[in-house]
Amino acid sequence: MFTRQATKVLRSLRKDNSCVRVQKRNHPITLSLRNSSTKVVIIGGGAMGASAAYWLTQKSGNCNVTVIEKDPTYANCSTSRSVGGIRQQFSIPENIQMSLFGAKFIKNLKNQFGPEADISYAPNGYLILASPQGAQQLAQNFKLQQELGSTNTLMTKDQLREKLKWLNVDDIELGCMGCEKEGWFDPWGLLTLFKSAAVSKGAQFVQGEVKNFIFSNDKNLKSVKVHLPNQDKKVFEFDTCVLAAGAESGAIARMAGIGTGQGDLSVALPVEPRKRYVYRFDSQGKNVPPVNSPLMIDYTGVYFRKDGPVFIGGRSPDSHEEPPADNLEVDFSYFDNTVWPLLAARIPAFESVKVQSAWGGFYEYNTFDANGIIGPHSTFKNLFFATGFSGHGIQQSPAVGLAIAELILDGKFKTIDLKRMGFDRLIKQQPLYEIGIY
Ligand SMILES: Cc1cc2nc3c(=O)[nH]c(=O)nc-3n(C[C@H](O)[C@H](O)[C@H](O)COP(=O)(O)OP(=O)(O)OC[C@H]3O[C@@H](n4cnc5c(N)ncnc54)[C@H](O)[C@@H]3O)c2cc1C
Repeated sequence: MFTRQATKVLRSLRKDNSCVRVQKRNHPITLSLRNSSTKVVIIGGGAMGASAAYWLTQKSGNCNVTVIEKDPTYANCSTSRSVGGIRQQFSIPENIQMSLFGAKFIKNLKNQFGPEADISYAPNGYLILASPQGAQQLAQNFKLQQELGSTNTLMTKDQLREKLKWLNVDDIELGCMGCEKEGWFDPWGLLTLFKSAAVSKGAQFVQGEVKNFIFSNDKNLKSVKVHLPNQDKKVFEFDTCVLAAGAESGAIARMAGIGTGQGDLSVALPVEPRKRYVYRFDSQGKNVPPVNSPLMIDYTGVYFRKDGPVFIGGRSPDSHEEPPADNLEVDFSYFDNTVWPLLAARIPAFESVKVQSAWGGFYEYNTFDANGIIGPHSTFKNLFFATGFSGHGIQQSPAVGLAIAELILDGKFKTIDLKRMGFDRLIKQQPLYEIGIY
């Protein structure tokens, strides 16, 4: 079970901030790793890249980590534009385990980053609602989540009606309510904690845009070509490269010939930007959801949560409605025509909502199966992916960063077995579908 192992990782971090000493019975990690310097270049300094840098520098004092980030303001990256939700309400064990790890990580935040560390965690839970058609699946997911250590509760229509007076449950069969391990937090806060802790341990964050890969004579990847802000070009050599460039990861993989070559190289990294809108709104209606209400996801895909005194919400468009992903402009008519009717049908007080503002953001969307891709490429063994999380990556960033550090430093997953999430599933054409993606 990962939870015991995860606890050990977090506890050892607390005891000795200089190096995580993960030990498993029969598999002690030798400290020789600390003596062998490995040069790692991470492409992308968002939550995933910064988390990988954090864990690499925590686990090995001798790991030479350079993060290449083209925009240190992070204005348009997924992390800055995220809703910051964390839930264990998924359908596959890996996603549940990674989010449980994230919840534990947040709980221990101050022990790990110091007493000032704060990511404004709101442990209000999630409420996922099922129609009669979806009730069996919700119950099945709930069972798996329970088995893996989450603390959710299944609620019948009558229980929902009794507890949540603001909710219209006419067409609802079942709800799953998350407890203290679910809620939301400030993604920017988490990113800056990862980054500053990694920097304090020696990681270098360089402003620049990766433009290409350079190959060694034996056709392996050996360095990246980077354009610096002053127009200079610089080459960064690596033993290992981590591709964590969010929505741009697919395009960067193509620079290495991934998706344009023969054999395994004919298989692309299927990660591309998909635009999502988040609307901030207020309601003067009667019986509005109170301040402690959960992040609700309706079976129609529409969601909302509290955001200070107001609310935020939205809905991922159906595939035939996908807006162009070459800009971050917001379509307000999508709220009027699609989001609002669904919201008002579920929460009568939202009949009178007034949109105050909105933003657009890119999911780093994995078009193959909408799940993260974690681990090495099948041909380029020194290129590791940490991308494709399709709208549920921020909560998984603590676990993914650790998983990448384990793969690089220990040669295998130690805390959570994420083998099924590797690139090989693309080669074998074996999708790993997650039902709980919104
Ligand atoms: C609207 C919205 C709501 C979301 N809600 C949730 C949620 O509730 N819960 C959840 O868990 N997740 C959510 N997500 C998803 C989550 O935010 C992402 O999965 C996560 O932030 C991805 O982090 P990342 O580091 O992979 O990508 P990013 O944050 O995009 O970071 C990638 C970085 O790579 C850099 N980069 C790109 N190309 C290059 C290059 N060539 N050279 C150098 N640098 C480069 C970019 O500048 C960027 O900073 C949401 C996302 C959006 C957009």
